[in-house]
Amino acid sequence: MSDHEFKRALGYANAALDLLKKSSIPPYPQFYELLYTYATGVNPSLNHRINAIFSSGDSPSASLAETLYNEFLKSDVNDRITNVSERMQARIEAVHSAIDQAMFTANAYSGSLQSAQGDLEREIGPDAIKALAGRLLAETRRMQDTNRLLEQKLDASREDIAALQRDLDDVRRESLLDPLTKIANRKSFDEGLRAAISEARQNGSPLCLVLIDIDHFKTFNDTYGHQTGDQVLRLVAMTLKSNIKGRDLAARYGGEEFVAILPSTDLKGAMIVAENVRQAIHGKELLKRSTNEKLGRITASFGIAVFHTGDTAASLIDRADRCLYAAKHAGRNRVINEENLMEAMRKSAQG
Ligand code: GH3
Ligand code: MG
Ligand code: MG
Repeated sequence: MSDHEFKRALGYANAALDLLKKSSIPPYPQFYELLYTYATGVNPSLNHRINAIFSSGDSPSASLAETLYNEFLKSDVNDRITNVSERMQARIEAVHSAIDQAMFTANAYSGSLQSAQGDLEREIGPDAIKALAGRLLAETRRMQDTNRLLEQKLDASREDIAALQRDLDDVRRESLLDPLTKIANRKSFDEGLRAAISEARQNGSPLCLVLIDIDHFKTFNDTYGHQTGDQVLRLVAMTLKSNIKGRDLAARYGGEEFVAILPSTDLKGAMIVAENVRQAIHGKELLKRSTNEKLGRITASFGIAVFHTGDTAASLIDRADRCLYAAKHAGRNRVINEENLMEAMRKSAQG
């Protein structure tokens, strides 16, 4: 984590704590998360709601904070995992009880066999033998019934467990996606970058990281509203995704920032990808869905870092971030990579 990033996060943390204190909301983790998210501003609809509460002269109470947390932050992934695990537990218990039942019947059966053996060792008449055979036959049928029941229960469980497995896979897949744009989220990006770096270290294959930030997006949101802003985020995500291929990974890095991991790609290749994405974003004329109103165009700025021996995820991201910052400084709607960073900085210093 860079010094800059650390200070930024600390600023958000302090702001969140101040708000908790000011509003006398207990500083439980979920309320801290709520107000931390508010402080970052990454969730404009949440901020809109909380600002409305503040501007009405109120301050969010603990119960309101709970409502807001449930509405904006609580992920249903946890609920769904709990649901799957409860169903799994119920299934296992049902199988256990069927097995217990079968064991009980098997024990009783073996008891009957033993007592029959005892009877047979003694001299017994034909009537007694007939009665004994009848008893044994009935016991055998009971044993067969129990086994059939167990078999049915095991079959049903096998199907259920396969369905539960599919549910769990869905939950796992969704937990790696950003709910708004449906591309990879920060968590899968972190995992993907870790894997890409370890591969580049092992094979010595090239690796590039492209960081993307939409230009003047705050103004766009303020002009056309957050819902239209959200549409634009989906559009940018799809544009990025459709311009990469194979093992490349496109992810939403945060608010209006995106990132692409390009394994086995050198700087020249990464520049081509980034330029294509930049032009595709710029090339789209935006229309408001509901009214067909023309919203003009948006642009984005790009920073590209190349993996070097000794790089960590943090140092690679940090370099891409610096290039992105230089792209913003140099006038936005452009791609800066770590090789032309110095030149770009010199040019923008000259004005
Ligand atoms: P710059 O060109 O320097 O990047 O300017 P900017 O306005 O894009 O940058 P800034 O970081 O000041 O603002 C980012 C804005 O992105 C703030 C917020 O309104 C918007 N934003 C972040 N996340 C979301 C989101 O999930 N939905 C919507 N609609 N807007 C978002
Ligand atoms: Mg930004
Ligand atoms: Mg921006």
